[in-house]
Amino acid sequence: MVSDEQIRTHALVHQGGWGEPAARSKLWRIANDLRRRAGFDICAIEVRRSDDRMEFVAIATDDPAARELEGQSSPLDAMFPVIDLGEVIGLFTFIPHEAVTDEAHASIEPYVVTPDLPYSDDPDAWHPQDMLVARLYDASNRLRAFVYFDVPCSLRRPSHDDLVKLSEDLDVTLQAIITTIEREEFAAGVRFATGARMVVRSADSRHGLPDLLRLATEELQKSFRATVLAVDVFGEALAMHPPGAVTMEDMPLLQAVRDSARRCWDRQRVLLVDGTGVWGDDQLAETSGGPLADLMTCHDWMELIVVPIGAGDEALGMLAIARGFGIASWSDDESSAALDVGHDLGRAILNARASERERQAAEELRRVDDYRTGLIATLAHELKNPIGVVAGHAEMLSMLDEEHDLPPAALVSLEAITRGADRLAILVDDLTTLSKVGDPAHELEAVPVDLGRLAMSVIDQSALAAGQRDIKLVYDAPPEPLIVLGDTTSLTSVITNLVTNAISYSDDGGSVRLALWCRDEEVVVECTDAGLGISSEDLTQLFTEFFRSTNREALVRPGTGLGLTITRRIVERHGGRIEVESELGSGSTFRVCLPLAVAPEAVVLT
Ligand code: ADP
Repeated sequence: MVSDEQIRTHALVHQGGWGEPAARSKLWRIANDLRRRAGFDICAIEVRRSDDRMEFVAIATDDPAARELEGQSSPLDAMFPVIDLGEVIGLFTFIPHEAVTDEAHASIEPYVVTPDLPYSDDPDAWHPQDMLVARLYDASNRLRAFVYFDVPCSLRRPSHDDLVKLSEDLDVTLQAIITTIEREEFAAGVRFATGARMVVRSADSRHGLPDLLRLATEELQKSFRATVLAVDVFGEALAMHPPGAVTMEDMPLLQAVRDSARRCWDRQRVLLVDGTGVWGDDQLAETSGGPLADLMTCHDWMELIVVPIGAGDEALGMLAIARGFGIASWSDDESSAALDVGHDLGRAILNARASERERQAAEELRRVDDYRTGLIATLAHELKNPIGVVAGHAEMLSMLDEEHDLPPAALVSLEAITRGADRLAILVDDLTTLSKVGDPAHELEAVPVDLGRLAMSVIDQSALAAGQRDIKLVYDAPPEPLIVLGDTTSLTSVITNLVTNAISYSDDGGSVRLALWCRDEEVVVECTDAGLGISSEDLTQLFTEFFRSTNREALVRPGTGLGLTITRRIVERHGGRIEVESELGSGSTFRVCLPLAVAPEAVVLT
C-alpha cells in the first residue's frame, strides 16, 4: 500500500506540464488501483495536452526505471503506428510484440521503457515488448488519454475472455479518469484565467495604449512566472518587464517570430521554444531554429513561449514569455490561459485605440469650437465700434436735418444707412450672445427665476409690435410662481426670441399664444402661432447657426438665423430641452422644458 505522503511527494517531485499536483495525485491513485485490480505490475496514464502531446502523468509501479518517464511527453501520433497493429478486445487493445514491425517499434522507441523480464519460450508468456492499452475518449469522442498496463503478475498474456471481463470490471474507473482530466482542465482554465485575465480586463480603455501595455507586462510577468515578459503590439513600441531586460538586435529573427505569431493566431495555439527545439510552428522551426536556440543560450533561458494577441481574424501582436532555469516548465493549462489573455489583450488594444481616436476627435472638435467661438467673439467686438460710428453719424445727420432740411435723396440714403446699422447692431448683439452662451468658461449665474413673471413681462414688451400688425397676444399661465434656477437675462432672451419669431413669422391679424405650466419635475413654456409654419426639411436644420428657412415668405422678413441657436444653447445650459412642431402654412409650436426648482415658496424672486 502506498502512503499519502509518498503520493504527495511523488506528485511534487514529478513536475510535468499537465495539471496541478492534486489532480496528478488523483490520477496516480487511480492508476495504482487499476494495476492492483487488473493484476499488473505497472499501470500508466498518459494524458493528451492541448498542444497535442501525450504526457505520462501517472505511472503506478514499483519499478523506479519506469517511473522515470513521468512528466515526459511524446507527439500524439507517435503511438498510433503500434496501437493500430493490435487487436481490440472490449476497452483494450492488445499488441503482441510479434505484431510490431521494426518501423512501428522505431516510432515509439524513444518514449517507452522496456521492462526487465526473464526470458520464456512459452507462447502465452508476457513478452517485455507486449503492450496492453485502453484508449479513453470523452463524450464528444475526442481521445483524452491512454492507459497502459504492463507486466502481468502472472507473467502470462491475458486471454480474450480475461480482457472482456476486465473491460467490464474497470469500465467505471476508466471513466473516472476522463472526469478527473476534464475537471482539472476546467479548474486550471479558471485559475489562470482569473489571475492573468483580470489584470488585462482591469486595465480599461481609460488608459492609453502605452499605459495599458506597461501595466499588462508588469502584471503578466508575475502571473506567468516569467523571467522576462514582453508585449509586442505590431506597429507600436515594444513593452517589456523588467524594462529594458532584453534588446532585440536581430530584426530578421523578430520579424520571423512575428510572422509565426500571425500563423499561431490563425491556428489558436502558442509557440514553445526550449532546449529541444521549436514547437508549434514547423515553418519557424525550419527557418529560425538556430537563431532562436542562440537567443535562448545567450540569455540563459529554459523556455520561450510566444502567445499570439488578436481580435477576430486579425493578429495584433504577440506576448513573449521567457523563463530561466529553475522555474517550473510551461504547462499545458498555461497555454490555454495565455491564449485567453491574447484575446483579452486584443480587445483591450482595440478599445484603447478606439478611445484614443475618440479622444483625438473630441480634442480636434474642441479646438475647432474654441477657434470658432473666439472668432465670433473677436468679430463681434471689432464690428461694434465701426457700427457705433456709422449709427452715430447717421444720428448726427438726422439732427442736422432738423436744423437745415436735407435734400430728399440724402434723406432716403440716411434712412437706408440707419436701417442697415440697426440690423448690423442686432447681428453683433446676437454674435456676442452666441459667443457667450457657447463658451463653457462663461458661467451663467443661476438664481431662482419665476418664469411666469418673466413671460408676462415679455408679453408686455411685445404688445406694441404685435399691436402694430394687429396680432392677438394670448397669455395663459397658472397664478402660482413657476420657478426654475437660471440666469434671468438669458431666460428672458429665450422667451423673447420665441415670441418675437412667432410675431415675425405670422401674417397680420394672426394670433400668438404663450402658455406655461408645470409637468412632472419641469416647467413648460409653449409658444404657438398660426403663421407661416416650417417645412419638414427646414425643421431638421432649424437650430443650426445662421440657418434661415428656405421659405421665400419667411426670408423676406428680417432676421440673422442666430436666435434659435442661441435659444437652444441657453436652454441646454439650463439642463432643459427645446422641441418644435410645425407644418408649412399651418403655424408652429415651440416648447421649452426646464427643470423645476424645488420649494417654490422658499424662493426669493429676482
Ligand atoms: P431669425 O429669426 O433671426 O432668422 P432664428 O434662429 O430665430 O433666426 O430662426 C431661424 C429660422 O427659423 C427663421 O429664419 C425662420 O425662417 C424660422 N422660424 C423661427 N421661428 C419661426 C416661427 N415661429 N414660424 C415660422 N418660422 C420660424
